[in-house]
Amino acid sequence: MPHRTAPLLAALAALCLPPAALAQNPVDRKAEAEFRRAEKAVADSKYTAAHQIYRDLAARYPQSAWGKMAAFRTRPTAYLGQGDLLRHGPSNNRVDVVFMGDGFGLDDQNEFEDVARAGVDVFKNHKLLGEYFSYHNFLRANLVSKDQGVSGYGRVKDTALGGFIAGQVQGQVGVDQGKAEAMLHQLDEHDGYAVAIVKAGSMGTGGGGIAAIGGRADDTMVHEWGHAFAGLSDEYSTFTGHRGAARNGRNVSTTDDLTKVPWRHFVEAGVPGVGAYRGADGRIKGAWKPTSGNCTMENGVQFCPVCREQFVLQIYRRVDPIEAEKPEPVRDKARALRVAGTADFEVTAMQPKTHQLDVRWHVLPEAAGIVPADPARRKDRNQRGALAPIQGKGDPGGYLGGGRTKFRLFTRNLEPGKYQVVCRVRDDAKPSGQQWPWVLKDDKQLLQSERAWWIEVPAR
Ligand SMILES: [Zn+2]
Repeated sequence: MPHRTAPLLAALAALCLPPAALAQNPVDRKAEAEFRRAEKAVADSKYTAAHQIYRDLAARYPQSAWGKMAAFRTRPTAYLGQGDLLRHGPSNNRVDVVFMGDGFGLDDQNEFEDVARAGVDVFKNHKLLGEYFSYHNFLRANLVSKDQGVSGYGRVKDTALGGFIAGQVQGQVGVDQGKAEAMLHQLDEHDGYAVAIVKAGSMGTGGGGIAAIGGRADDTMVHEWGHAFAGLSDEYSTFTGHRGAARNGRNVSTTDDLTKVPWRHFVEAGVPGVGAYRGADGRIKGAWKPTSGNCTMENGVQFCPVCREQFVLQIYRRVDPIEAEKPEPVRDKARALRVAGTADFEVTAMQPKTHQLDVRWHVLPEAAGIVPADPARRKDRNQRGALAPIQGKGDPGGYLGGGRTKFRLFTRNLEPGKYQVVCRVRDDAKPSGQQWPWVLKDDKQLLQSERAWWIEVPAR
């Protein structure tokens, strides 16, 4: 009922300073410029300089919102700023992996950056994560901690992420989930995923988007990333602490009945080595894992087929296989593009490391037109659902391609009328040298995407 709320909104607007007036305040404008200069210094890895700019700013403009924020960033334990470690593309179509440090002082920020860069290399060189390396961005959130070390055994440390001894048995490190999320929210953009490097910690823990590891620990990082990003369970049977009752997970089953395990589609497809093996989820009894092959979620270097599938699906929940398109899709038939002669269409497909996505162009007569999937990017592509089936002869021009692929439509063989040009891009998830696709079950068709344009061929 807009007629009721409108006066209220007008009253609220009258109370607020218009943004233009804020921008014109010369003190605030100067303070903001200084603040941005400090942020730029962090982005350029000039940490001491950034800290000094924040301090000066806080002293010079204590009443300004920028001065207050600068003071906030110079506290003994604080968020200092952010920078890119490696950016492959726009955040809205990448998995943004944020590295953050715990127990690192202002003088340790270069050391933190080195460990974070080593972490990026782990992604790059990993068989699975490396295949989809370009689907990720790597960022750093620079956090200053007053204390080094981790809390536990009766001592409490003042650190940015509240690193603590999480494991009762092995002493593996954890971070405060709330603190890690609060730090993520300081960034311009994030997906809720972070790798928290705890300087004085050992081993790691992971879940809910946050992988915590002690210092530089390559294999541990991948394992914890499996928990944090892909929601995978442990496949080892070693007791590391009480976990409550055994639960079914993506890669852990409470039954060894092969018709009931969560990965039964792998068994039905006959993927070698996949079955139900006793001992998982930190217990010897009552929990089964998909392979005996020492998956990363156990202690191994590579993921088992079941975990791998979950990983690829999870990546595609965030990343649309179609990165960009030209021209703007036309969903409304009434706004069909008028085409006489030729028209060019273009999509940019994502590019895995060793295999290409399948790109197909269809020209559908009006009666066979589909309701195309909403191209609006969503945080979770699960919401989109499966694509509409394409009926009829289709006559698709198909090829394998990464990057930019073009399609030129010639209208001379088309009767006057309306048509729909549809481009579909699909990842078969079958990297070079692999006998089996990495994804066997994709109910939501996350590995596919489409763009569509209504066109009209005028009467000659
Ligand atoms: Zn596994």
